Amino acid sequence: MRLRDLPSVDDLVRDQRFEGEPRGQVVQAARRALDRAREEIRAGTDPGDLVVRLAGELEALRRPHLRRVLNATGVVVHTNLGRAPLARPALDRVVEVGQGYSNLEYELLDGRRGSRQEHVAEILRHLTGAEAALVVNNNAAAVMLALAALAEGREVLVSRGELIEIGDGFRIPDVLTRSGARLREVGTTNRTRAADYEAAVGSDTAVLLRVHQSNFRVVGFTEQPAVAELARIAKAHGLPLVDDLGSGVLEASNRRLLGSEPDAAASLSAGADLACFSGDKLLGGPQAGIVVGRADLVERLRRHPLQRALRADKLTLAALEGTLALYLDPDRAVREIPVLRMLVEPVESVRERAERLARLVDGEVEQTVGRVGGGALPLAELPSYACAVEVELAAELRAGEPPIVGIVRDGRCLLDCRTLDDADVVEVAAGVARARDRS
Ligand SMILES: *Cc1c(COP(=O)(O)O)cnc(C)c1O
Repeated sequence: MRLRDLPSVDDLVRDQRFEGEPRGQVVQAARRALDRAREEIRAGTDPGDLVVRLAGELEALRRPHLRRVLNATGVVVHTNLGRAPLARPALDRVVEVGQGYSNLEYELLDGRRGSRQEHVAEILRHLTGAEAALVVNNNAAAVMLALAALAEGREVLVSRGELIEIGDGFRIPDVLTRSGARLREVGTTNRTRAADYEAAVGSDTAVLLRVHQSNFRVVGFTEQPAVAELARIAKAHGLPLVDDLGSGVLEASNRRLLGSEPDAAASLSAGADLACFSGDKLLGGPQAGIVVGRADLVERLRRHPLQRALRADKLTLAALEGTLALYLDPDRAVREIPVLRMLVEPVESVRERAERLARLVDGEVEQTVGRVGGGALPLAELPSYACAVEVELAAELRAGEPPIVGIVRDGRCLLDCRTLDDADVVEVAAGVARARDRS
């Protein structure tokens, strides 16, 4: 086919197959089909049947852009793949609250205006032992709001070893500076002592901040003061201690998980005045930033104008309440919250899943190492098993429906089974069969 043999957009959309379809969409798809055909002709290949191409473009246009993906990477809290999958009961709450009206900001008892913060405040108080709680869009927003409300125009003391980059070039010091607070670094990258904070406290100091070294570890000659030591200094000077915990592990599940991430209850009982954490890392809920701690400080955050800009929406609050409710029974939390379930699943049962997948697709079982991800427990290795298939399938699997994301390593495509569940295995097997047909 030559360039001048290509039909016009008008001619192409006139095909009877597209009768009754929304004209604007068909025209857009036809333009795309023709653009691609032009490129292919210039590159010396034949574009084939243009009506078939147009039908394909039309289907692609109608497919949602944000889609479900099967995670075969073995990274449990995979930030690029949407972090925490939600528990069924949490999703049910989203559907229930989202499909109609709700008492989002309405007191049913007396028919007056209420606060959206009330829906999860009580359960958060119960689970963390805090006096008060507040929820915003994510943990970066929680930390920023805390500093804006407590330290605007004043100084925040933070250890040099804790000025971390969370990911994608997003740095804690930049977030902190945007709050309007001034950052004062204390100590050194590998060693910071309580005495460093003590020496740096001045008349302009407003807050002592501790940031959990979520996604890295400094090993060797290191020192970091315990929360209790910092709390003692903060108290002596009448200053609040804010503890950014990052991962959001709750006491109820911490004991069951490998390693030990700091949890909010422990932080508060060691003397932190406020603790902040994410909703969609180890907590296993929706994207959210949760602040718990002293009632007077939480109230200052709630009254700050930024709170209005950073507040969580009703769907988030519904999913968060649904997730937190599962923690009232820690055994149920581990069974039903996908992140927790994947983290604690015995390696033998992961291996059985990999063997099942390998039988279905004629692949090979291989031992792998999964990761917690989400910048939590960076050194923790999750023993895991994958099913290895031909490396050529990796791109085809990503292009399939649903897309399947595996890991390319040593000339093979590994489909890690720690982050797939039993039902996913059947879908992955079908996806591999289709990918082989196409390639
Ligand atoms: C992940 C993380 C954040 C950011 O949390 P988001 O919920 O992603 O905004 C902030 N601080 C620490 C220590 C973290 O680990």
